[in-house]
This record gives sequence, C-alpha cells and structure tokens, in this order.
Amino acid sequence: MPSTVSAEVNATVPARPSVHAAEAVYRADLFQALAEALDAPPRWLAAPGSAWPLMASLEALAPRSPAAASAQEQLAAIAAETAAERTARYRDLFVARGRPRFWLHESLYGSGQLFGPEARAVAGYYRAAGLVIDGGELPDHASVELAFLAYLARREAEAGAEGNGWRRVAAGFVKQHAGRWLPQLGRALAASGDDVYGPIGALLADWFERPVRRRGPRRRATRVPTVTADRCTLCGFCVQRCPARALAVAEDSLVTKLTLAVDRCTGCRLCERVCDPGALQMTTCFDDDASGSPRVLVRSPRVSCRRCGAPMVSAAELAFVARQLGNPSWLTTCPACRGHMMER
Ligand code: SF4
Ligand code: SF4
Repeated sequence: MPSTVSAEVNATVPARPSVHAAEAVYRADLFQALAEALDAPPRWLAAPGSAWPLMASLEALAPRSPAAASAQEQLAAIAAETAAERTARYRDLFVARGRPRFWLHESLYGSGQLFGPEARAVAGYYRAAGLVIDGGELPDHASVELAFLAYLARREAEAGAEGNGWRRVAAGFVKQHAGRWLPQLGRALAASGDDVYGPIGALLADWFERPVRRRGPRRRATRVPTVTADRCTLCGFCVQRCPARALAVAEDSLVTKLTLAVDRCTGCRLCERVCDPGALQMTTCFDDDASGSPRVLVRSPRVSCRRCGAPMVSAAELAFVARQLGNPSWLTTCPACRGHMMER
C-alpha cells in the first residue's frame, strides 16, 4: 500500500470467524485492492482481470451485493497488459500538470480546491481512529480513503461480535465523505471508455450506490448445484440434462463459463447424475440468495491457437481431451491451421 493510513493493525481474524466477520474480511480485501488500483498501479493490475486478487472477494460478496455480482463479469473480461501499459493508462487518466482528466481528491469534488476543508475533515477521522498518514498522498486521496475503509473493515472482523462500533464508524465515514464523491468519480471513470479503469470505476460507483442486502429471515432452503472447478471439463452434459434450463454455458473470446440461474433451479439433481467426473454436487441455497444475475459456477480461459492466435476451446476442455489422447502436438492448433499443416 504505497500511500495510505498506517497503524498497529493486527490483521489476524479469529480462528473460526462468524459469517459477519468473514464478510468484513472480504470487504477489507476489496477496499484494499481498490485503494491500490487508484494509487500508482500495483503489479497485480497487469494480470488479466480474472486473476486479480479482488475476484475472490467479489465472488464471496456477490450473493448479497449487487455491485459485486455485476462487477465479476466486467472485471474478468479485462485482458492482461504489461505493467508499463497499465501505468500509461493511469498516467493518462490521473496524472497531468495542471488539470488531469480525473481528480482523485475529495476536496476537488466538494469545495473545488486542493487540500480544502474536506481533506482536513477526513484527517480528523484518521486521527480519531489512532492513525497517521504515511505516504506522499493528501488525506482525501481516493486511495487513502479506501485504505481507511479497509482498515475499519479489518478491525470490525477482528472484533467479531463486538464489531458493530467499527461498522458504525465506517458507515459515518461513507455518509460524510467516501460515499459523497467516490460514486461520482466511479461513474466518470466508467464513462471514460478505458478498458481497465472503466470497469474499476463502475465497481467503485456501484459499491456505494447499490448497498449490500441485509440478512433477512430465511424463507426457504433449496438444493442447487455447485461445481469443483478443477474437476469440471466443461463438457456441457449437465446443461443438456437440465429440464428447467437453469444451467448454461456462455463464452466470449476470453473465457468460457458454466452458469446457474438459481431462481430457475428446482433441485431435481438430474445434473448431478450425468456429471461423470463428479465435479457437480448439490448444496444448500436460501431464497434470499436466489435472485439476481446467474451465478458463475466455473470459469475457464479460452486457449488460443498457437499458430494463428484464434480463440479455441476452453482450457478445461482442452485438458480433458489432452488426457484422453495423450497430448498430441496438433491439439493446440485450431482446425483451420491443422488443415494447412496436413496439406504440406
Ligand atoms: S459440471 Fe460436470 S457435467 Fe457439468 S460441464 Fe462440468 S464436468 Fe460436465
Ligand atoms: S438440480 Fe435440476 S433444475 Fe437444478 S440445475 Fe440441476 S438439473 Fe437443473
């Protein structure tokens, strides 16, 4: 965390965290990743979006967070670049003499001046929490405010059942500061068309504008499929067998996914019976998890033809065929290139 608030933080969570504490850890990791992305780009940002560390948090939070659910697909579609290319994007958007395309300081969105009253007010928040600014950024920089929210969520997780106090501090900070301007920044980034910071901006705006659903009384428990990713060959037999059309395979040029529309699933278990590798098992799902966009059960990157670069099948399917055929050399070429190779 290059520039952020610092303190003696024991990030260890209890050995058996409650559901609330575990969720607070995921929130902390998500805020931390957003803080890093809006500071000088971290090394992990150069990887494809599907490999970013925050994807685990989004997956865990998605059942109750519409923001996390909709961000999963958008971020997973981000392609890898070199670190230099990512840095060039960052500089183009946020670093310029005079007026950058997008300001990263709260006071520029409030009083319209750098280090305005908003910056002094957030510094007061940090002091009250026993923190000091450690780094070159002003206290109202987006990365510092997000790092503060990550800190508060970690304290909430550590406090376990006593964590409500930290949660209230975070809610107050969002109401008075982060939630007043970060959505505006996020929407502007989302509209910028930038392939990397656009989806990050959409997540930032959504997170504050589409709050996590509260845990309500559980109305009904059903059994729905989950899949162990490293066993699934993406054969699609379960999709064909599903009478409710709850399962689907979707693919674009980068990734192939097996998805489940939870609200369509009747729990009949027919899919489980046709899954030869034993990748699919039924698990309990509650009504309040059953709405929203389809749940991604498995995600596998598409493999490119080693001769022409055209997208081919998913890595999961290719690995299965390789196991069956003994990994012949032509397997990593597309049908068109295979034809050319044979004509020679
Ligand atoms: S879950 Fe089983 S049946 Fe469904 S695609 Fe994966 S391997 Fe095939
Ligand atoms: S349990 Fe039945 S309805 Fe649900 S996904 Fe499997 S086959 Fe479809």
